[in-house]
Amino acid sequence: MRMSTRVIHAGQRPEPVTGAVMPPIFTSSTYAQRSPGEHTGFEYSRSHNPTRYALERMIARLEGSTLSESDDVTFGGFGFASGLAAMDCVCELLTAGDEVVCFDDVYGGTNRQFQRVRARSQGLRVKFVDCSDVAKFERAMTPKTALVWVESPSNPMLKLCDLRAIARAAKAKNPGVLLVCDNTFATPMNQRPIELGFDVVHHSATKYLGGHSDVVGGVLVTGNRELAQRIRFHQNAVGAVMSPFDSYLVLRGIKTLAVRMERHGESAGRIADWLESHSQVDRVIYPGLASHPQHPLAKRQMEGFGGMITFFVKGGLDEARRFLESVHLFTLAESLGGVESLIEHPAIMTHASVPPEMRRELGISDTLIRLSVGIEDVEDLIADLSLGFAAARSRSNGRTSRPREGGPAGRKAAPGRRR
Ligand SMILES: *Cc1c(COP(=O)(O)O)cnc(C)c1O
Repeated sequence: MRMSTRVIHAGQRPEPVTGAVMPPIFTSSTYAQRSPGEHTGFEYSRSHNPTRYALERMIARLEGSTLSESDDVTFGGFGFASGLAAMDCVCELLTAGDEVVCFDDVYGGTNRQFQRVRARSQGLRVKFVDCSDVAKFERAMTPKTALVWVESPSNPMLKLCDLRAIARAAKAKNPGVLLVCDNTFATPMNQRPIELGFDVVHHSATKYLGGHSDVVGGVLVTGNRELAQRIRFHQNAVGAVMSPFDSYLVLRGIKTLAVRMERHGESAGRIADWLESHSQVDRVIYPGLASHPQHPLAKRQMEGFGGMITFFVKGGLDEARRFLESVHLFTLAESLGGVESLIEHPAIMTHASVPPEMRRELGISDTLIRLSVGIEDVEDLIADLSLGFAAARSRSNGRTSRPREGGPAGRKAAPGRRR
Protein backbone atom coordinates (compact mmCIF):
# COMPACT_ATOMS: atom_id res chain seq x y z
CA MET A 1 0.00 0.00 0.00
CA ARG A 2 1.18 3.52 -0.76
CA MET A 3 1.29 6.02 2.09
CA SER A 4 -1.98 7.85 1.35
CA THR A 5 -3.81 4.50 1.43
CA ARG A 6 -1.89 3.33 4.48
CA VAL A 7 -2.95 6.33 6.60
CA ILE A 8 -6.55 5.17 6.22
CA HIS A 9 -6.32 1.38 6.30
CA ALA A 10 -2.95 0.22 7.72
CA GLY A 11 -3.31 -2.21 10.60
CA GLN A 12 -7.07 -1.61 10.79
CA ARG A 13 -9.88 -4.13 10.79
CA PRO A 14 -13.60 -3.66 11.46
CA GLU A 15 -14.56 -4.10 15.10
CA PRO A 16 -15.47 -7.83 15.35
CA VAL A 17 -18.78 -7.64 17.24
CA THR A 18 -20.56 -4.83 15.36
CA GLY A 19 -18.45 -4.32 12.25
CA ALA A 20 -17.91 -0.67 13.22
CA VAL A 21 -15.54 0.86 10.66
CA MET A 22 -13.89 3.15 13.21
CA PRO A 23 -12.90 1.51 16.49
CA PRO A 24 -15.23 2.38 19.36
CA ILE A 25 -13.69 4.26 22.29
CA PHE A 26 -13.33 1.39 24.74
CA THR A 27 -13.33 3.09 28.13
CA SER A 28 -13.62 -0.13 30.16
CA SER A 29 -10.74 -0.46 32.61
CA THR A 30 -11.14 -4.23 32.89
CA TYR A 31 -12.48 -7.22 30.96
CA ALA A 32 -14.50 -10.27 32.04
CA GLN A 33 -12.68 -13.60 32.16
CA ARG A 34 -14.36 -16.96 31.44
CA SER A 35 -12.25 -18.79 33.99
CA PRO A 36 -9.27 -17.50 36.02
CA GLY A 37 -6.58 -16.48 33.53
CA GLU A 38 -8.77 -17.38 30.55
CA HIS A 39 -9.58 -14.14 28.69
CA THR A 40 -10.02 -12.64 25.24
CA GLY A 41 -6.48 -11.20 25.14
CA PHE A 42 -7.71 -8.18 27.08
CA GLU A 43 -7.29 -8.16 30.86
CA TYR A 44 -6.72 -4.61 32.09
CA SER A 45 -6.67 -1.40 30.06
CA ARG A 46 -3.22 -0.12 31.05
CA SER A 47 -1.86 -3.29 29.48
CA HIS A 48 -4.36 -3.84 26.66
CA ASN A 49 -6.89 -1.49 25.13
CA PRO A 50 -8.55 -2.08 21.74
CA THR A 51 -8.77 1.63 20.83
CA ARG A 52 -5.12 2.22 21.69
CA TYR A 53 -4.18 -0.95 19.81
CA ALA A 54 -5.88 0.40 16.67
CA LEU A 55 -3.75 3.55 16.81
CA GLU A 56 -0.58 1.65 17.72
CA ARG A 57 -0.99 -0.73 14.79
CA MET A 58 -1.61 2.18 12.44
CA ILE A 59 1.49 4.17 13.42
CA ALA A 60 3.63 1.02 13.41
CA ARG A 61 2.72 0.34 9.79
CA LEU A 62 3.11 4.00 8.77
CA GLU A 63 6.65 4.07 10.15
CA GLY A 64 7.48 0.91 8.24
CA SER A 65 7.54 -1.75 10.95
CA THR A 66 7.12 -5.17 9.34
CA LEU A 67 6.59 -7.04 12.61
CA SER A 68 3.73 -9.55 12.54
CA GLU A 69 1.04 -9.93 15.17
CA SER A 70 2.86 -12.94 16.60
CA ASP A 71 6.05 -10.85 16.93
CA ASP A 72 4.17 -8.12 18.77
CA VAL A 73 0.44 -7.67 19.19
CA THR A 74 0.57 -4.04 17.93
CA PHE A 75 3.39 -4.62 15.39
CA GLY A 76 5.87 -2.57 17.48
CA GLY A 77 3.73 0.57 17.89
CA PHE A 78 3.15 2.06 21.37
CA GLY A 79 1.00 4.95 22.60
CA PHE A 80 1.90 7.20 25.56
CA ALA A 81 0.31 10.06 27.47
CA SER A 82 2.62 12.62 25.81
CA GLY A 83 5.70 12.85 23.65
CA LEU A 84 7.82 13.33 26.77
CA ALA A 85 6.23 10.26 28.39
CA ALA A 86 7.29 8.29 25.31
CA MET A 87 10.83 9.66 25.75
CA ASP A 88 10.67 8.62 29.41
CA CYS A 89 9.98 5.05 28.31
CA VAL A 90 13.05 5.13 26.03
CA CYS A 91 15.20 6.27 28.96
CA GLU A 92 13.86 3.40 31.05
CA LEU A 93 15.40 1.02 28.52
CA LEU A 94 18.83 2.28 29.64
CA THR A 95 20.83 1.45 32.74
CA ALA A 96 21.94 3.94 35.38
CA GLY A 97 25.08 5.81 34.33
CA ASP A 98 24.73 5.07 30.61
CA GLU A 99 26.27 7.36 28.04
CA VAL A 100 23.95 9.23 25.65
CA VAL A 101 24.67 11.30 22.55
CA CYS A 102 21.88 13.78 21.86
CA PHE A 103 21.58 16.22 18.97
CA ASP A 104 22.12 19.71 20.39
CA ASP A 105 19.23 21.32 18.48
CA VAL A 106 16.39 19.25 19.96
CA TYR A 107 13.00 20.17 21.38
CA GLY A 108 13.44 22.15 24.62
CA GLY A 109 11.59 19.55 26.70
CA THR A 110 13.85 16.78 25.40
CA ASN A 111 16.88 18.77 26.46
CA ARG A 112 15.25 19.43 29.86
CA GLN A 113 14.37 15.79 30.53
CA PHE A 114 17.94 14.68 29.80
CA GLN A 115 19.71 17.49 31.69
CA ARG A 116 17.41 18.19 34.61
CA VAL A 117 15.74 14.85 35.24
CA ARG A 118 17.67 11.91 33.81
CA ALA A 119 21.16 13.16 34.69
CA ARG A 120 20.09 13.34 38.34
CA SER A 121 17.67 10.41 38.69
CA GLN A 122 19.48 7.94 36.46
CA GLY A 123 23.00 9.35 36.23
CA LEU A 124 22.81 9.42 32.44
CA ARG A 125 25.85 11.14 30.96
CA VAL A 126 24.43 13.13 28.06
CA LYS A 127 26.63 14.77 25.44
CA PHE A 128 24.93 17.37 23.25
CA VAL A 129 26.47 17.28 19.81
CA ASP A 130 25.80 18.91 16.45
CA CYS A 131 24.68 15.70 14.75
CA SER A 132 23.95 17.56 11.51
CA ASP A 133 27.72 17.14 11.06
CA VAL A 134 28.37 13.38 10.76
CA ALA A 135 32.09 13.80 11.49
CA LYS A 136 31.32 15.61 14.77
CA PHE A 137 28.84 12.89 15.64
CA GLU A 138 31.43 10.17 14.98
CA ARG A 139 33.94 11.89 17.26
CA ALA A 140 31.39 12.07 20.10
CA MET A 141 30.13 8.51 19.73
CA THR A 142 32.09 5.88 21.70
CA PRO A 143 31.79 2.08 21.99
CA LYS A 144 30.03 2.73 25.31
CA THR A 145 27.36 5.08 23.93
CA ALA A 146 24.10 3.35 24.78
CA LEU A 147 21.63 5.78 23.19
CA VAL A 148 21.71 8.20 20.28
CA TRP A 149 18.80 10.66 20.13
CA VAL A 150 18.32 12.85 17.08
CA GLU A 151 15.60 14.96 15.56
CA SER A 152 15.40 15.78 11.84
CA PRO A 153 14.44 18.41 10.85
CA SER A 154 15.35 19.91 14.20
CA ASN A 155 13.55 22.43 16.29
CA PRO A 156 13.77 25.35 15.75
CA MET A 157 16.79 25.64 13.43
CA LEU A 158 15.49 23.02 10.96
CA LYS A 159 18.88 21.36 10.68
CA LEU A 160 18.89 17.87 9.23
CA CYS A 161 20.68 14.74 10.35
CA ASP A 162 21.83 12.33 7.70
CA LEU A 163 20.00 9.39 9.27
CA ARG A 164 21.51 6.68 7.11
CA ALA A 165 25.07 7.94 7.69
CA ILE A 166 24.51 8.33 11.45
CA ALA A 167 23.03 4.85 11.75
CA ARG A 168 25.97 3.35 9.89
CA ALA A 169 28.60 5.27 11.90
CA ALA A 170 26.91 4.52 15.23
CA LYS A 171 26.46 0.79 14.68
CA ALA A 172 30.09 0.53 13.50
CA LYS A 173 31.26 1.88 16.89
CA ASN A 174 28.72 0.00 19.01
CA PRO A 175 26.41 -2.55 17.35
CA GLY A 176 24.27 -2.59 20.51
CA VAL A 177 23.57 1.17 20.57
CA LEU A 178 19.92 2.22 20.58
CA LEU A 179 19.20 4.70 17.77
CA VAL A 180 16.15 6.89 18.26
CA CYS A 181 14.83 9.52 15.88
CA ASP A 182 12.20 12.04 16.94
CA ASN A 183 10.18 12.17 13.70
CA THR A 184 7.62 14.71 14.91
CA PHE A 185 8.47 17.42 12.36
CA ALA A 186 8.79 15.19 9.30
CA THR A 187 6.02 12.64 10.01
CA PRO A 188 6.13 9.27 8.24
CA MET A 189 4.70 10.97 5.15
CA ASN A 190 8.00 12.74 4.61
CA GLN A 191 10.61 10.48 6.23
CA ARG A 192 10.77 6.97 7.73
CA PRO A 193 13.86 6.57 9.94
CA ILE A 194 13.41 2.82 10.53
CA GLU A 195 13.87 2.27 6.80
CA LEU A 196 17.14 4.23 7.09
CA GLY A 197 18.59 2.05 9.87
CA PHE A 198 17.14 3.52 13.08
CA ASP A 199 15.81 1.26 15.85
CA VAL A 200 13.04 3.43 17.27
CA VAL A 201 10.94 6.31 15.99
CA HIS A 202 9.54 8.77 18.52
CA HIS A 203 6.67 11.21 17.98
CA SER A 204 4.88 13.88 19.85
CA ALA A 205 1.46 12.84 18.51
CA THR A 206 0.30 16.22 19.83
CA LYS A 207 1.62 17.75 16.61
CA TYR A 208 1.06 16.54 13.02
CA LEU A 209 -0.26 13.05 13.84
CA GLY A 210 -3.16 14.45 15.88
CA GLY A 211 -3.14 17.47 13.61
CA HIS A 212 -5.97 19.45 15.18
CA SER A 213 -4.40 20.93 18.35
CA ASP A 214 -6.88 19.04 20.51
CA VAL A 215 -4.86 16.20 22.04
CA VAL A 216 -1.55 15.60 23.85
CA GLY A 217 0.08 12.25 23.15
CA GLY A 218 3.24 10.40 22.19
CA VAL A 219 4.16 7.26 20.29
CA LEU A 220 7.13 4.99 19.80
CA VAL A 221 7.61 2.54 16.94
CA THR A 222 10.20 -0.16 16.51
CA GLY A 223 10.61 -2.74 13.80
CA ASN A 224 12.74 -4.95 16.07
CA ARG A 225 10.96 -7.82 17.84
CA GLU A 226 13.18 -7.94 20.92
CA LEU A 227 12.99 -4.17 21.39
CA ALA A 228 9.21 -4.29 20.97
CA GLN A 229 9.02 -6.76 23.84
CA ARG A 230 11.15 -4.54 26.07
CA ILE A 231 9.16 -1.42 25.23
CA ARG A 232 5.89 -3.30 25.82
CA PHE A 233 7.13 -4.38 29.25
CA HIS A 234 8.11 -0.82 30.20
CA GLN A 235 5.01 0.80 28.72
CA ASN A 236 2.97 -1.37 31.07
CA ALA A 237 5.35 -1.37 34.04
CA VAL A 238 5.84 2.42 34.07
CA GLY A 239 2.29 3.06 32.92
CA ALA A 240 2.15 6.44 31.14
CA VAL A 241 -0.20 5.06 28.48
CA MET A 242 -2.32 7.01 26.02
CA SER A 243 -5.99 7.12 27.00
CA PRO A 244 -8.65 5.48 24.80
CA PHE A 245 -10.17 8.84 23.89
CA ASP A 246 -6.80 10.37 23.00
CA SER A 247 -5.96 7.26 20.96
CA TYR A 248 -9.20 7.72 19.05
CA LEU A 249 -8.43 11.39 18.38
CA VAL A 250 -4.93 10.67 17.11
CA LEU A 251 -6.17 7.82 14.91
CA ARG A 252 -8.86 10.11 13.51
CA GLY A 253 -6.21 12.76 12.85
CA ILE A 254 -3.96 10.30 11.04
CA LYS A 255 -6.70 9.46 8.53
CA THR A 256 -6.11 12.88 6.91
CA LEU A 257 -2.34 12.99 7.46
CA ALA A 258 -1.53 12.49 3.77
CA VAL A 259 -3.71 15.34 2.49
CA ARG A 260 -2.75 17.59 5.37
CA MET A 261 0.99 17.10 4.92
CA GLU A 262 0.67 17.73 1.20
CA ARG A 263 -1.04 21.07 1.86
CA HIS A 264 1.28 22.03 4.75
CA GLY A 265 4.27 21.41 2.47
CA GLU A 266 2.86 23.28 -0.54
CA SER A 267 1.91 26.34 1.47
CA ALA A 268 5.14 26.38 3.48
CA GLY A 269 7.12 26.21 0.24
CA ARG A 270 5.23 29.24 -1.13
CA ILE A 271 5.64 31.21 2.10
CA ALA A 272 9.34 30.36 2.39
CA ASP A 273 9.93 31.70 -1.14
CA TRP A 274 7.96 34.83 -0.34
CA LEU A 275 9.85 35.43 2.92
CA GLU A 276 13.19 34.89 1.23
CA SER A 277 12.47 37.72 -1.21
CA HIS A 278 11.17 40.08 1.53
CA SER A 279 13.31 43.13 2.30
CA GLN A 280 12.63 42.90 6.07
CA VAL A 281 13.92 39.34 6.39
CA ASP A 282 17.54 38.57 7.19
CA ARG A 283 17.39 34.86 6.53
CA VAL A 284 14.85 32.06 6.02
CA ILE A 285 15.42 28.47 7.02
CA TYR A 286 13.32 25.83 5.23
CA PRO A 287 14.67 22.48 4.03
CA GLY A 288 12.86 22.92 0.70
CA LEU A 289 14.78 26.11 -0.17
CA ALA A 290 17.84 25.77 -2.39
CA SER A 291 19.56 28.15 0.10
CA HIS A 292 19.22 25.60 2.94
CA PRO A 293 22.76 24.32 3.55
CA GLN A 294 21.48 20.74 3.57
CA HIS A 295 18.99 21.00 0.72
CA PRO A 296 20.61 18.10 -1.22
CA LEU A 297 20.24 15.86 1.86
CA ALA A 298 16.64 17.02 2.30
CA LYS A 299 15.86 16.01 -1.27
CA ARG A 300 17.51 12.62 -0.76
CA GLN A 301 16.10 11.81 2.66
CA MET A 302 12.67 13.42 2.65
CA GLU A 303 9.63 13.01 0.43
CA GLY A 304 8.30 16.46 1.37
CA PHE A 305 9.72 19.34 3.41
CA GLY A 306 6.94 19.85 5.95
CA GLY A 307 5.13 22.89 7.28
CA MET A 308 7.71 24.44 9.62
CA ILE A 309 9.62 27.60 8.67
CA THR A 310 12.07 29.61 10.73
CA PHE A 311 13.15 33.12 9.81
CA PHE A 312 15.05 36.08 11.22
CA VAL A 313 13.22 39.39 11.01
CA LYS A 314 15.46 42.45 10.51
CA GLY A 315 15.90 44.61 13.60
CA GLY A 316 15.84 43.45 17.22
CA LEU A 317 13.50 42.13 19.90
CA ASP A 318 11.15 45.13 19.47
CA GLU A 319 10.62 44.41 15.78
CA ALA A 320 10.07 40.73 16.48
CA ARG A 321 7.61 41.53 19.25
CA ARG A 322 5.62 43.97 17.09
CA PHE A 323 5.53 41.37 14.32
CA LEU A 324 4.24 38.66 16.67
CA GLU A 325 1.60 40.94 18.18
CA SER A 326 0.27 42.12 14.84
CA VAL A 327 -0.52 39.00 12.90
CA HIS A 328 -4.11 37.80 13.25
CA LEU A 329 -4.51 34.53 11.41
CA PHE A 330 -1.28 33.12 12.79
CA THR A 331 -2.04 32.50 16.45
CA LEU A 332 0.76 33.35 18.87
CA ALA A 333 1.12 29.99 20.61
CA GLU A 334 3.52 27.19 21.36
CA SER A 335 3.14 23.84 19.63
CA LEU A 336 2.83 23.11 15.93
CA GLY A 337 1.43 20.75 13.37
CA GLY A 338 -2.28 21.65 13.59
CA VAL A 339 -4.60 22.69 10.77
CA GLU A 340 -4.40 26.28 12.04
CA SER A 341 -1.29 28.37 11.54
CA LEU A 342 0.77 29.21 14.61
CA ILE A 343 3.61 31.62 15.19
CA GLU A 344 6.04 31.78 18.09
CA HIS A 345 9.24 33.22 19.49
CA PRO A 346 11.51 30.29 20.47
CA ALA A 347 13.88 32.32 22.70
CA ILE A 348 11.02 33.41 24.99
CA MET A 349 8.56 30.57 24.45
CA THR A 350 9.36 26.97 23.40
CA HIS A 351 13.09 27.13 24.06
CA ALA A 352 13.09 29.12 27.29
CA SER A 353 14.08 25.87 29.04
CA VAL A 354 17.30 25.66 27.00
CA PRO A 355 20.15 27.35 28.91
CA PRO A 356 20.86 30.88 27.47
CA GLU A 357 24.46 30.16 26.49
CA MET A 358 23.34 27.06 24.61
CA ARG A 359 20.59 29.08 22.89
CA ARG A 360 23.22 31.56 21.73
CA GLU A 361 25.45 28.81 20.37
CA LEU A 362 22.51 27.34 18.48
CA GLY A 363 21.58 30.69 16.96
CA ILE A 364 18.22 31.02 18.74
CA SER A 365 18.32 34.82 18.79
CA ASP A 366 15.75 37.48 19.70
CA THR A 367 14.81 38.03 16.05
CA LEU A 368 14.15 34.36 15.33
CA ILE A 369 10.50 33.60 14.54
CA ARG A 370 9.06 30.13 13.97
CA LEU A 371 6.00 29.44 11.84
CA SER A 372 3.84 26.36 11.80
CA VAL A 373 2.07 26.83 8.49
CA GLY A 374 -1.50 25.54 8.65
CA ILE A 375 -3.83 24.51 5.86
CA GLU A 376 -5.69 27.82 5.46
CA ASP A 377 -5.60 29.56 2.06
CA VAL A 378 -1.99 30.49 1.48
CA GLU A 379 -2.86 33.96 0.10
CA ASP A 380 -4.61 34.79 3.38
CA LEU A 381 -1.56 33.62 5.29
CA ILE A 382 0.79 35.77 3.22
CA ALA A 383 -1.50 38.80 3.68
CA ASP A 384 -1.42 38.18 7.42
CA LEU A 385 2.38 38.04 7.53
CA SER A 386 2.42 41.33 5.60
CA LEU A 387 0.62 42.92 8.56
CA GLY A 388 3.42 41.70 10.80
CA PHE A 389 6.06 43.28 8.58
CA ALA A 390 4.13 46.54 8.41
CA ALA A 391 3.97 46.66 12.22
CA ALA A 392 7.65 45.79 12.54
CA ARG A 393 8.38 48.81 10.29
CA SER A 394 6.17 51.20 12.27
CA ARG A 395 6.34 52.25 15.92
CA SER A 396 2.97 50.79 16.93
CA ASN A 397 1.71 47.23 16.70
CA GLY A 398 -1.62 48.20 15.10
CA ARG A 399 -3.62 46.02 17.46
CA THR A 400 -6.04 48.77 18.47
CA SER A 401 -7.05 49.50 14.90
CA ARG A 402 -7.42 45.84 13.95
CA PRO A 403 -8.86 43.83 16.83
CA ARG A 404 -8.42 40.11 16.46
CA GLU A 405 -11.70 38.67 15.26
CA GLY A 406 -13.18 36.26 17.75
CA GLY A 407 -9.81 36.01 19.45
CA PRO A 408 -9.28 35.99 23.17
CA ALA A 409 -9.92 39.39 24.72
CA GLY A 410 -6.94 41.01 26.38
CA ARG A 411 -4.36 38.92 24.58
CA LYS A 412 -1.07 39.32 26.45
CA ALA A 413 1.25 41.68 24.69
CA ALA A 414 4.43 40.05 25.92
CA PRO A 415 4.83 36.31 25.48
CA GLY A 416 6.99 36.22 28.58
CA ARG A 417 5.41 33.81 31.04
CA ARG A 418 6.19 30.17 31.89
CA ARG A 419 9.29 28.29 32.87
C1 LIG B 1 6.21 18.77 21.28
C2 LIG B 1 7.42 18.00 21.00
C3 LIG B 1 7.88 17.02 21.89
C4 LIG B 1 7.21 16.75 23.22
O1 LIG B 1 5.96 16.17 23.06
P1 LIG B 1 4.74 16.43 24.09
O2 LIG B 1 3.62 15.72 23.40
O3 LIG B 1 4.54 17.89 24.19
O4 LIG B 1 5.13 15.81 25.38
C5 LIG B 1 9.00 16.29 21.53
N1 LIG B 1 9.64 16.51 20.36
C6 LIG B 1 9.23 17.46 19.49
C7 LIG B 1 9.98 17.65 18.22
C8 LIG B 1 8.12 18.23 19.78
O5 LIG B 1 7.74 19.16 18.91
